[in-house]
Amino acid sequence: MLSETEGRWTDAGLTTLDAARQDEPNSRTSWRILVVDGDPDVHTATLSALEGQTLFGRPLAFTHAFSDDEARLLLLRAHDLAMVILDVGAEQASSELDLVDFIRHSAGLRNTRIVLRTGQPGQVPDLETLLRYDINDYRTKAELTRDRLLAMVVTAIRSYKQLCAVDASRSSLELIVRSSASLLETKGDCEFASAVLTQISALLKVEREGMVCAQRGESQRDYYVMAASGKFSEFVDLPLDLVTPGPELDLLLKSAESKSNIYGKDGGLALHIGHKDEQDLVVFIHVPRDHHGLDRQVLDVLRANFGTLLHNRGLLSRLHESAYHDPLVNLPNRAHFVHEVNECARHGTNGHILALVDIDDFSATNDVMGHRFGDRLLEKVARCLEASLPPSVLLARLGADTFGVLGSVRHVQPRQLLECIRHPLNIDGVPHKVSLTCGYVLLPEEPRAGADLVKDATIALKRAKRDYRGQELQYADLMGTEARARALLRSELREAIENKQLFLVYQPQLNLCGHTLVGLEALLRWRKGDGSFVPPDQFIPVAEHSGLIVGLGEWVLNTACSTMRELLNAGTAPQRMAVNVSTVQLQDPGFFDLVCAALATNGLQGLHMELEITESVAALPTQFLEQTLSALRAQGISIAIDDFGTGYSSLSYLERLPLDRIKIDRSFVRQLSEPRSARIAEMVAQLGRKLGLSVLAEGIEDATVWNALVGMDCQEGQGYHIAMPMEAHALVAWVQRHMERRALVPKSC
Ligand code: C2E
Ligand code: CA
Ligand code: CA
Repeated sequence: MLSETEGRWTDAGLTTLDAARQDEPNSRTSWRILVVDGDPDVHTATLSALEGQTLFGRPLAFTHAFSDDEARLLLLRAHDLAMVILDVGAEQASSELDLVDFIRHSAGLRNTRIVLRTGQPGQVPDLETLLRYDINDYRTKAELTRDRLLAMVVTAIRSYKQLCAVDASRSSLELIVRSSASLLETKGDCEFASAVLTQISALLKVEREGMVCAQRGESQRDYYVMAASGKFSEFVDLPLDLVTPGPELDLLLKSAESKSNIYGKDGGLALHIGHKDEQDLVVFIHVPRDHHGLDRQVLDVLRANFGTLLHNRGLLSRLHESAYHDPLVNLPNRAHFVHEVNECARHGTNGHILALVDIDDFSATNDVMGHRFGDRLLEKVARCLEASLPPSVLLARLGADTFGVLGSVRHVQPRQLLECIRHPLNIDGVPHKVSLTCGYVLLPEEPRAGADLVKDATIALKRAKRDYRGQELQYADLMGTEARARALLRSELREAIENKQLFLVYQPQLNLCGHTLVGLEALLRWRKGDGSFVPPDQFIPVAEHSGLIVGLGEWVLNTACSTMRELLNAGTAPQRMAVNVSTVQLQDPGFFDLVCAALATNGLQGLHMELEITESVAALPTQFLEQTLSALRAQGISIAIDDFGTGYSSLSYLERLPLDRIKIDRSFVRQLSEPRSARIAEMVAQLGRKLGLSVLAEGIEDATVWNALVGMDCQEGQGYHIAMPMEAHALVAWVQRHMERRALVPKSC
């Protein structure tokens, strides 16, 4: 029965010679015990004491080694050794401890229980060794009666069993964590359900045979099969009611009803996954009846973990929805629209149109009527647009009051979009007339990025808002070129400001009769790195649109004031320094303080400064404008209306606003020889006189014009004939030269 050279397993009385072959099946059905002892009688005694015993439902299986070397060979092959009963002889105690070390470290058997048997009580290893090698028990052979030996084995096997259970839980938990990560990566609900099935069968180490069902309606029975495998594959997508009745269906229904895990008598298992009051899943998985891997605690962890995943997926899909949805008007948002345009344009879809529809004067309505009214207006416009379009056309809200439309040209006609609101809309009982403007682009044959197409349509929309309000305008390449050039100029201007490429020049203003220098107009210049100039007519509008003008304007004010201070110090200063102010600056609430600060810093008074504003200010809210201008004039600052006659059609503002001077635009002055221009110039001069305003003509290029202006009783002027705009350092010399010349030249009138 015992081998001299090789260990043999005796499985509860039956003997097998091939230990390796027995390794796997035996590990699940028996507790393996290795007896190491040089004395064959000890082996026989051990066997006779323990043979035929069954512990915790499993029989004991023994293997026998008669030497350390033999034991080592066996240990390397036995991964599921429950216990080693080891003889510690008097003379070789240290070599036996080597074997213990081998068990723990070389063979890597951490859970195997070790019991030492010795002939003499004095051969007990010290406490530290017992602890270090996790030695379970220590007995003298004399002590070990049959009953004591059995009791010792029971204790050791129980302890081994518990250690293995902890191990199994640990690796199951690790698997749960890993499978959670892979479940999170799944995309659609069906993929998730299928992955749940895969992961559960992997965790339980069973065949992937089962069903995953999700609730569809309110009713308890209203579940349907989202994923299935094995013999259940045919039920995918079916309602649970149509699944062939049987123990699986019973388990699933019970689990769905009780919202808990249900263990079937025949080995099946129904798991409930999901949080209370949220969408849940019930999973049936086929588990063999004698399956030992079902640790209920692990299953609870799995259930809780997968439930959290399911919950998070719900959150994710809601997040996804909110990332692509505009809740205010219940339409897709810009991100969704651009995504769809991308999809559409990627394939080069011609025959499609991308239109942007904007509500005219929306921000003014919002300001006057309040945000609630604005929101309701947006909602109503969204519904009108929606009603005018077939379902195949995509309608989205892209920004505050801009809607995007994408569809076939057969279904989307820009003109009709604008006409979708024919009558005033009734908003909270208030009738509100709505006008829309549309910019659109036809999708090209060649693939383009969606965002670029939206940009093109935006350019067309902006142009339409500026020049064709209430109408539609198709994008043309030229618009894009201009818009891109403006964008480029904007970024160049930003850099130019940082690199101090901007500076001021000053153009003298004379009294046309007495030739006295009355003022200087500060004018901005931009000299690029290569020495070329960008005309202010080009970069000032860009600065105004980008808001750069506010900072730039402040710099102009300060610089002009500091030049004025230098001229005063040199005794060559005129009465006033005129500074151009754009409407954007005037609207800045800090403007008044800024002007006062520039004056104060340079020790100037209000009368040293004139501000040139254009007729477009008349479009600003009257009360605000009057307040600002009055406050400035109260400081002694004078106000001139620049480019008079070119802008605003109504003249009523001239009476309303506190002004000092009108500047006749150079386009009328230059062509004084033409009767029409002459009439306008004369009219302006008369108007000024009547309103008690002084009049200054700009753009005087020759003496004839000068004389004609004097004849019209226009008091002041500036122009190349008098002087070119010049840099600050040239001013003192010019003023001195001018005074010398003036002494020689007779008065014009
Ligand atoms: P503006 O205020 O009407 O300035 C007068 C413009 O006429 C200046 O052009 C000046 O160089 C030009 N000019 C002067 N004399 C003559 C002449 O005899 N014949 C002709 N044909 N032109 C003459 P500039 O400097 O190119 O400025 C263009 C416009 O840029 C200005 O028109 C003004 O609206 C704006 N601008 C210039 N500097 C500033 C500034 O600092 N701030 C603001 N907001 N705008 C400015
Ligand atoms: Ca001016
Ligand atoms: Ca002007």
